[in-house]
Amino acid sequence: MKKHTERYRRKKPVKGGRRTGLGVSVLLSVGILGMSLSQVMVWAAPKAGGAGEEVGEASQIKAARSASELFEDGQEKEESFSQEVSADSKEAAQAFAEKEIGREQPEPFLVAIDAGHGGVDSGCMGKTAQEKELNLQIALELEKELTQKGYRVLLLREKDEFQDKLDRVEIANSYQADVFVSIHQNTYEGRDKTVGGIETWYDGTDASRDNQRLALLVHRETVKSTGARGRGVIESTELYVASKTLMPACLIETGFLSNPQEEKLLVSADYQKKLAEGIARGIELYFHPGLMYVPFEEAPWSLAGTEAVTEAR
Ligand code: ZN
Repeated sequence: MKKHTERYRRKKPVKGGRRTGLGVSVLLSVGILGMSLSQVMVWAAPKAGGAGEEVGEASQIKAARSASELFEDGQEKEESFSQEVSADSKEAAQAFAEKEIGREQPEPFLVAIDAGHGGVDSGCMGKTAQEKELNLQIALELEKELTQKGYRVLLLREKDEFQDKLDRVEIANSYQADVFVSIHQNTYEGRDKTVGGIETWYDGTDASRDNQRLALLVHRETVKSTGARGRGVIESTELYVASKTLMPACLIETGFLSNPQEEKLLVSADYQKKLAEGIARGIELYFHPGLMYVPFEEAPWSLAGTEAVTEAR
């Protein structure tokens, strides 16, 4: 517990409730990836028509044209460019700047990563690989990926040591992590050594947490990044860490150690990186659904929208 206190500052409570609202998501999406602007505009459009999209494109084209003219002709064009901005839009921009930019920068999201098992608890076994080791290796790789993307990370187990499930949950809850992802390996008890692929689990009984949407995105992106078989997103109340955490949580079984071919992949640094990239991308899309291109009417931040996207692939 002590080392976590040293490494991670406890989050201050957020005024006015949790900050996973649409407004913040859209703003962050726009800030992080300029390209998503046009997508946000598409979703902002009324359902019945494409007016929002047209307006968005028109103003982008106008801005681009004005900028290129400005570049070619220098000062003279600069004047005409500034004249194009009406008094109304100047006022609006000013109000926006005061309201949004002057505000305190929100802290990056905190992701709790739970490397399953550890110490005397080895988890399942392959021919040579131990689940606890792979879980930790993938968790460390995921920490790298998320840190590069600007997230804060709470790594619940940093080395090969036993850690009680209750402690894992308590630490994640006390730090008010924004999401919780547990990493595990699977095994098939029967004779068939070809059983393989990725499963992602979540507790669907707690409607106050967005568990299913997180699980769907983490699953979809990891299947995509690895090319592994997707065995499905599965609902269960039996998984202690995914059920007792207070933030959206899921548990991913990244492969089968009973499958020799999959075991070979799972121990390789390349494949672990692919797994980490997929999980990180799923987490990113969870926080910033505006980064997804969604060719249907359901908003991407809704569970229905996420289901539609994940089923379409
Ligand atoms: Zn396990």
